Amino acid sequence: MPQSQPIISISPVLAERLRAMPKAEIHVHIEGATDAETFFQMAQRNQVELPVASLEEWKKFFKFRSFPHFIEVYTTAVRCLQTPDDYALMIECFFKRQAEQNILYTEAFLSASFLTQKFENEVILDAIASGVKSGKAKYGGRVNLIPDISREIPDSQTRVLEFVLEGKKRGLFIGLGVGGLEIGYPPELFTETFAKARQQGLRVVAHAGEAVGAESIWGAIDNLQAERIGHGIRCLDDPELVAALRQRQIPLEVSPQSNYCLGIVEYERPHPIRQMIDAGLYCTVNSDDPVMFSTSLVNEYLTLASQGFSWEELWRLNLNTLEATFLDKDEQASYCNEWERFRQTEIDN
Ligand SMILES: [Zn+2]
Repeated sequence: MPQSQPIISISPVLAERLRAMPKAEIHVHIEGATDAETFFQMAQRNQVELPVASLEEWKKFFKFRSFPHFIEVYTTAVRCLQTPDDYALMIECFFKRQAEQNILYTEAFLSASFLTQKFENEVILDAIASGVKSGKAKYGGRVNLIPDISREIPDSQTRVLEFVLEGKKRGLFIGLGVGGLEIGYPPELFTETFAKARQQGLRVVAHAGEAVGAESIWGAIDNLQAERIGHGIRCLDDPELVAALRQRQIPLEVSPQSNYCLGIVEYERPHPIRQMIDAGLYCTVNSDDPVMFSTSLVNEYLTLASQGFSWEELWRLNLNTLEATFLDKDEQASYCNEWERFRQTEIDN
């Protein structure tokens, strides 16, 4: 059975540095970063029937077992979110989680196909705004949201786009994404919606090259004109695609533990991010659905450290992630200066 990779012997000094370093993250799903307990409390409050009887059993159910089980956990968890206040609370908790890992800037996904089925846009946008406001006030940090279409619900795309555009006007959203079941739902299904999104000034990203091979990534860059690719690790199957990604320096949002858990990368092997970097590809490091995959962004860096990456290499990946954000160059530079001070102190010590 696929499972997450354990961290083996890395120096405590390096581990501490990775915990303390200021970070950015650009591929993390808010629902997948919410802990089992929070969902359990929501289920109780909203009288949502769960397939388990107690919190202990729910925590066990939440742990990754297989891809179909993961989808079951995800959809059951999303069912617990019944009121706008649940969304506000979930977003506030997300700020806390990021702050605990010193992730100063995040671009996070919110599953919009489900959410727009349940609520009027204005009501849910108010709740999201209130979650962002209280999360920022309590824990600091900055989070920009990118709602995404679940590709297995293609009928939701027009509704999601309208929702995202309304949220953009209120300064809540910066872009549009597409995720979910890759097999059977190619990028081409979303070409028109993505074209409209780009015309309206939204940044666009797409999950591709995770469960499906190179053709899915070609579709994402050529048809959707995705500015970043979620995962993208299957590009290695196609030398022409590797050359195109290298030439265009399209950032790939790599999430090692997610790939191990979903069996995209074999458990016994080192993650192909090393090959991707050697091929001149633009790689970033992310945690995807950290709670469901028993990981965190810190743990992703520890995983790579345990596979032989040096402090300098990991620092470079962290900078890559910052530079792949949709922040403007001045904002990136201001984070960069702050981070450089951290690095300098680490070197001096
Ligand atoms: Zn993802």
